[in-house]
Amino acid sequence: MAKKQFKTESKKLLDMMVNSIYTHKEIFLRELISNASDAIDKLYFRSLTDDGVGMNHDDFVIRIDVDKENRILKISDNGIGMTKEELENNLGTIAHSGSLDFKSDDENQNENIDIIGQFGVGFYSAFMVADNIKVDTLAYGEEAACHWESSGADGYTIRACDKEDWGTVITLHIKEDTNDEKYGEFLETYRIRELIKKYSDYIRYPIKMLVSHKQKKEGTEDEYEDVFEDETLNSMTPIWKKPQSKVTDDEYADYYKSKFADYEAPLKVIRQSTEGTATYTALLFIPAHAPYDYYSRDYEKGLQLYSSSVMIMDKCKDLLPDHFSFVKGLVDSADLSLNISREMLQHDRQLKIIAKALEKKIASELSKMLKTDRENYEKFFKEFGAQLKWGVYSSFGVNKDELQDLLLFKSSNEGKYTSLKEYIDRCREGQDKIYYAVGETVEKIAMLPQVESVIAKGYEVLYLTEDIDEFCVQILQNYDNKAFLNVCTDNLDLGDEEEKAQLKEANDKSEELFKFMKEAIGDKVEKVRYTNTLKSHAVCLSSEGSVSVGMEQILNKMPGAEGQNIKAQTVLEINMEHPIKEKLLSLFENDKEKLTEYSKILYAQARLINGLSLDNPSEISDLICNLMA
Ligand code: ADP
Repeated sequence: MAKKQFKTESKKLLDMMVNSIYTHKEIFLRELISNASDAIDKLYFRSLTDDGVGMNHDDFVIRIDVDKENRILKISDNGIGMTKEELENNLGTIAHSGSLDFKSDDENQNENIDIIGQFGVGFYSAFMVADNIKVDTLAYGEEAACHWESSGADGYTIRACDKEDWGTVITLHIKEDTNDEKYGEFLETYRIRELIKKYSDYIRYPIKMLVSHKQKKEGTEDEYEDVFEDETLNSMTPIWKKPQSKVTDDEYADYYKSKFADYEAPLKVIRQSTEGTATYTALLFIPAHAPYDYYSRDYEKGLQLYSSSVMIMDKCKDLLPDHFSFVKGLVDSADLSLNISREMLQHDRQLKIIAKALEKKIASELSKMLKTDRENYEKFFKEFGAQLKWGVYSSFGVNKDELQDLLLFKSSNEGKYTSLKEYIDRCREGQDKIYYAVGETVEKIAMLPQVESVIAKGYEVLYLTEDIDEFCVQILQNYDNKAFLNVCTDNLDLGDEEEKAQLKEANDKSEELFKFMKEAIGDKVEKVRYTNTLKSHAVCLSSEGSVSVGMEQILNKMPGAEGQNIKAQTVLEINMEHPIKEKLLSLFENDKEKLTEYSKILYAQARLINGLSLDNPSEISDLICNLMA
């Protein structure tokens, strides 16, 4: 029979497995049992709506069989099985489930090995201990069973076979012992028992194995014989049902990593058990990093839903609000009916009560983390902060009271993260605004002329670097009775009355000059005027109205914005104290042509200072060269 080749990525992984120097080869058993349990879950789900299955929860079982002499270890399940096509797809390719970022070849081997340990790599991990693997499987609803076989990286074969019952049998031929590695241990009852206790104790289906006991031979006084008896090796107690004091952080982390396909331990574990209007236990995890598809449409939020320890739904969306969509975990409630259909669930009153309570709990745990574990909170915020800000912005701000104290922004206070409350605590006396500025990076914002001048006056400025930031503060409007204010807008008003009057007078006097300059620059600016807020720079850009220069950029980048050409009302501001002022006035009297060129150059400079690109770089460069020559 022709051998089929594994897909390239899978082949690399397989090579790593076959030649693995990884010390925790034992995890292979956890991986195979977890696959078996998932397959049973799938058939069990089916049985809830499909009478054809004809099985109850108690009928499902995972079996381990050992034939020491022939070095055979079998793991069987009576789950959903695989069709020929599924065999081909699932075991010929790495399933791209979860966040297995496959490390490239040039990275060092140790790192690769670490990924194996932390994440587990499913089925293939069996090649760490076996030199030949056979899979016999019959998919639910299929007539024909299939046999898959492989001895490693050189490929696999698939053919038809005989198998009566639904489910899958994985047959491993365990590698011969070497001087360094005693693979034979995986054929020993005590070792298998130990591994199942360690990794698979909570599996909700019995894992059974024939175990021998010494028993007195009937009719004899002191003669013993070996009697084989089925023993269930796992306690089947789900981790969330064990007393909290009996579960270590490592156990939670292991559970999270294997159930939610993450290679990193969670930043926080949240457990909640309540009785009352709703009786439930929740076990929630805040991941340490965002899944690769988190900020895409493909990401599906949701918690697993259990009814008395039996899973009834894998991703129950209604249990999590969008702004906490990063939370992973499960809810187990005896109040929910087992046969509940998905549509009914959406309207379940009980579910709504649970969802509300969970939302509150998550918010309070995050708030606690912010107060007591700043380092981890900032780590969390780097990954998921944008989602919280989005949560403030969406639905017209209905969640802002819940979320505003969880927000962090970078600020001129040493460029560090600050919460709004901390900003307020540092406010100068009489300060009634929360100043902010928008830009690509903290460094670029810090260099904005308006920012420099506001800081020089002794105020702190929030540095908004993410697309969502300014939308978020606009929805918030104010915090602790202080309004948010973009320092690059015409509303910035830091001078005293006398200064204001001077500014107004100067502006009035130069009205004609500004009209001319605006004409020269074109409709890219709404107007030109003096400012008294700049420290050293000659010019800067600001805006009038609700769309700032930063928002203009973001809005036009958004999908669907093509052609809409959303515009900020941009203002070119000229430093009233700068010598350029006199120069412009004199050009207005004597050399309008030069003034046209100057206007264009000044506008270009203001764009550059604000971190914006030029539409006409070669024209500007020529103009400057003309001046220089
Ligand atoms: P993962 O479990 O992370 O998806 P695996 O390599 O362990 O990756 O398994 C690949 C796929 O093969 C599984 O997603 C599942 O669809 C299928 N599979 C593996 N073992 C079984 C089994 N015992 N019964 C049914 N399907 C299985």
